[in-house]
Amino acid sequence: MRNLYINIALTTLIFSNLGAKVCSVPPRVAKYLVKSGLDGNLNIADIRRNSYSLSTLCTSFFTVNEGSLKWRFLLVTNPKKAKGLFWFLPHDNENSAFSSAIYATRKYGGGFLAIVNNDKRYNMGQDPNRNFSNSTSRICKGQKAASPIYTNFVFNIIDYYKTPNTPYLALHNNRNRGGVSILKSSSKVRSFLAYKKESINSENRLTDEDNLIYMASTTSNLTSKIGSIIKQGLNVKLEVVNSNNNDCSMSNYIVIEKGDTNYYNIEAEHRDSVTQKRMIDILLKVIY
Ligand SMILES: [Zn+2]
Repeated sequence: MRNLYINIALTTLIFSNLGAKVCSVPPRVAKYLVKSGLDGNLNIADIRRNSYSLSTLCTSFFTVNEGSLKWRFLLVTNPKKAKGLFWFLPHDNENSAFSSAIYATRKYGGGFLAIVNNDKRYNMGQDPNRNFSNSTSRICKGQKAASPIYTNFVFNIIDYYKTPNTPYLALHNNRNRGGVSILKSSSKVRSFLAYKKESINSENRLTDEDNLIYMASTTSNLTSKIGSIIKQGLNVKLEVVNSNNNDCSMSNYIVIEKGDTNYYNIEAEHRDSVTQKRMIDILLKVIY
C-alpha cells in the first residue's frame, strides 16, 4: 500500500488549460513528500502572493523531522526543463528572493527549494542556514543539534536537479545598510568592488551596498571569475572558508564537505526584487 502511494505521488499529472504538466519528485526524498500542487496551501503568504506565476510550475511540499525540529519545504521546478540551474532559499522572511526564484525558474528552467516557516527566518531558534553538517553531533556555534537528516534531504534534492556544469546557487535578502554590506570586510570576508567607493549607494541600484554576490573559497585571492563578475557591474564578497571557521552555512558545507567552490549567493535588499532579477540575468551571463 505504501509503495502504491509513493508511485502515485511520484508522478502527478496535472491538466491545465496550458496542457499536461508532468511533475515528479526525486525518489530519494519521496518518503518526505506531503503533497503535490498548491491546493490547500494558499494560506502560505509566499504562495498567495505568487499563485499565478506558480500555477504553471511543479510544486511539492515536504516535511522533515529531526530531533525537536520540524522542517517544511516547498520544491518548485519548471515542468518543461526540471534539471539545470537550482536555487536554495533558506529564509522564509526574504520575500523578494522568493519572487526572484520564480522568475529564474520560469526563464531559465531548473527550480528551487524554499523553507516554509510562517514568513520567519528562525525555526524554533535555529537559523536554517546554520544547520548544514553531516556529523551526528553538533559542530557549530549557530547549530542547536546535529542535522544529518536535514542536510541530506536538502542536498539530495539539489544534487538531483542541479546539472554538473552548474554552480550551487542561493538567493537572499538583507536589511538596508545592515550586517551584509559591500562596504564591510573582515579577515573572513573580502570585498571586491565593481565601482569606485564614492559611487557606492548612487542612483544605480547595482551600486547599493546591500546588493552583492557572495562567493566562497579556501583563499582570499582575486580570481578571473571574480574579475569578470565585477566587470559586469556586480559587487562581490568572498568568504574565506576553512574547517576552523566553519559556521554550518550552506556555502561552508559546500566548500568543506563537498570540496567545491562553485557557489554563488545573490543578495539583494528587502523589497528590491527588480534589482535581484537583474543581478540573476547578469551573473548567469557570466557564469552559465
Ligand atoms: Zn537570508
